[in-house]
Amino acid sequence: MACKNCNAVSSRRQLSSRGETTRFVRRLRGLVEDGRLVEFPSFTDLEDIEDDAGFPDVIECAFGCPDCGSEYVFKASSHHRRPPEWLPTRRRR
Ligand SMILES: [Zn+2]
Repeated sequence: MACKNCNAVSSRRQLSSRGETTRFVRRLRGLVEDGRLVEFPSFTDLEDIEDDAGFPDVIECAFGCPDCGSEYVFKASSHHRRPPEWLPTRRRR
């Protein structure tokens, strides 16, 4: 059964545009503020990513769902031609 808490972000996705990335990051911030995701100490702090002013060259930000224990990572690198990605790294119990 899907976890009601993190179901909305439980699938892998690639963010194909800057606007999409910005919207997704805002959504992540909302989920963290609501306590639906917990931000883990990571290479990048979520608060450093926000807004159009400029993202860090390399982003790697890890999250966990406090409800089911699933873990996720958001990563991007301007040095590679790959779009920013959101991916599950550990499935729920
Ligand atoms: Zn969950």
